[in-house]
Amino acid sequence: MSAIQNILKETFGFNEFKPGQEQVITNLVEGYSSIAIFPTGAGKSLCYQLPSLLESGMTLVISPLLSLMKDQLDFLKSKNISAAKLDSGMSTDDYKNTLQAAKNGNLEILLIAVERFKNERFRTQLKQMNVSLLVVDEAHCISEWGHNFRPDYLKIPKFAKEFNIPKVLLLTATATTNVLADMCKKFDIPKESVFQTGFFRKNLFLRVHAVTQKHKDAHLLKVLSGKPHGAVIVYVTQQKTAEYVAGMLNENGINAKPYHAGMESELRDSIQNLFMSGEINTVVATIAFGMGIDKKDIRKVIHYDLPKSIESYSQEIGRAGRDGQPSLCCLLGNKDSVPVLENFAYGDTPEYSNIRQVLELIKSTEGNLFEVHPYRLSKISDIRLLTLKTLLVYLELAKIISPLYTFFESYTLKFLTSSEDILSNFKNERKEFVKTILNNCKTARTWTTVDIEKIVIESGSKRQRILTALEYFDEKSWIILRPKTSVDVFEITHKEFDIDSTARELATLFLQKEEKDISRIHSLIDFFEKDQCLARNLSAYFGENLQENCNRCSVCLNKAPTHLPFTELPDLKQFDYETLVRPLLDKADTTLSVNQITRFFCGIATPRLVQYKAKQMAGFSKLAAYNYKAVKEWVQSHKSS
Ligand code: ADP
Ligand code: MG
Repeated sequence: MSAIQNILKETFGFNEFKPGQEQVITNLVEGYSSIAIFPTGAGKSLCYQLPSLLESGMTLVISPLLSLMKDQLDFLKSKNISAAKLDSGMSTDDYKNTLQAAKNGNLEILLIAVERFKNERFRTQLKQMNVSLLVVDEAHCISEWGHNFRPDYLKIPKFAKEFNIPKVLLLTATATTNVLADMCKKFDIPKESVFQTGFFRKNLFLRVHAVTQKHKDAHLLKVLSGKPHGAVIVYVTQQKTAEYVAGMLNENGINAKPYHAGMESELRDSIQNLFMSGEINTVVATIAFGMGIDKKDIRKVIHYDLPKSIESYSQEIGRAGRDGQPSLCCLLGNKDSVPVLENFAYGDTPEYSNIRQVLELIKSTEGNLFEVHPYRLSKISDIRLLTLKTLLVYLELAKIISPLYTFFESYTLKFLTSSEDILSNFKNERKEFVKTILNNCKTARTWTTVDIEKIVIESGSKRQRILTALEYFDEKSWIILRPKTSVDVFEITHKEFDIDSTARELATLFLQKEEKDISRIHSLIDFFEKDQCLARNLSAYFGENLQENCNRCSVCLNKAPTHLPFTELPDLKQFDYETLVRPLLDKADTTLSVNQITRFFCGIATPRLVQYKAKQMAGFSKLAAYNYKAVKEWVQSHKSS
């Protein structure tokens, strides 16, 4: 028996590999970076859990779902594999102990969120760790072509180089051809190291039901009462819908619980546990639910609202029937929410003038260090935070700026012992240095702020030395150190750009992105309305060609496509523009563009609208059910008249 088969049996207690696992693991163990594209539930995690035991160094896992990793850590613990996660929610002691274990080589696996790399403290510590494998979970986040694009993920290839991590493993359940090409290119992984298993699961019965908004509740009750009986997830888009639907089900004698990010985490955990143990059968959840859970006998996944994309749909239905038993995946579909989905895309597109503002700021910066306080810049430029991050990445790609590091502008600390006691541990030059630090600590009630800049000037020492000293105090438990506002520092690599044309080019990039996002929504609708086997079509979307139709989806059974209904809305003309817009105009300190006013009516909160407390005005979100472009035309007609 080979070494890896031995570990599979002895350590993990599994009899055989699931499809694809052995190939990925062998490739990794032979020293090659790899990509594994398996559907949800197919066992991607084992592809690094097993090799981590054969590596000389630690395996570092980047996951966007850190808060949902409890099950995985419990699983590893039960197999006697030392694993931990680092997140901002943990206590100082836990954090410190985990870092120490990682540095001492006592951890096989460490889970982190990508943001951790920005943390100056963590970066310093990471240099002292021996990491031999970097794993990127949900690796499709790296591609702008995929759903859930996360700008920070674009920097992971650079981190791998910076920290000398010799191998990477990319894991995802959903990679379209474009996304896969992107992943290969960014990490320099050849085709031979890409392992993909089929998407088709014959025990899933895909159904699309045309249901008007008015009839949804009744229809949901009907689907719930039908076969197969067992555990159910009902997916909704908004938190308030989760609450509403769960309440409605309870009124109808079904013990359902809501689950969404707006709930206390303790309550959420307890609901998850009750669901896992089978004490409650039905959870009405936003997409926050299900990512970390691994329940094999989910019999129904019902979409009460449209999913966000085909990728999300495939992931969400993938939680049904992991035991291989017949399971129902049912969409209660209509097009009423399409404008709301579209508004997410429209809300993200910054205007030419906003982009200009950022460019002007770069140009007028003295020297070549560009310091970004994300919240502040978001407010100044009226660009939403996530979009601003994307803009910064575009500027990086245009070689105008290049990221250097992120630091915490300020640290706060709490003394656990007196300054005199701390000082008594040092002599000579060090004592002087420590004295300068302590002299520049200002204590309010309990917390103390450190003026690092001033210490730099007074002591003539580098920032890094001061931080190392503070770290040391913290390690010795003389103080508790807490980072505060973060600042991203970029080097301005090219300042001679032309503001007009550059702003125009960037605005075009964002418009193209908007178009991509909008067309993604339309392909989602097309997908559900097409005259083709749903299962076959879904597989094709992810690059797998099935030879036959599934013969069990609603298209195959009805021998006809489903037409999704749309509830007609009253004409925009009946709304009183002047009255609705007045409170906003009264509050605004500058003239507002057509887009800004349109966003107001469509319920898209930009930083400036937040500043004006627009949410409290009657007109805000008044026309959220309408198509953005139609609202924009309506606004335009009133503005120009
Ligand atoms: P994914 O990340 O691909 O969605 P996971 O890695 O969470 O899937 O694995 C899903 C489940 O399959 C887990 O409970 C895991 O323990 C189990 N599993 C993984 N590999 C095997 C195997 N070779 N044999 C049996 N069960 C396995
Ligand atoms: Mg997983």
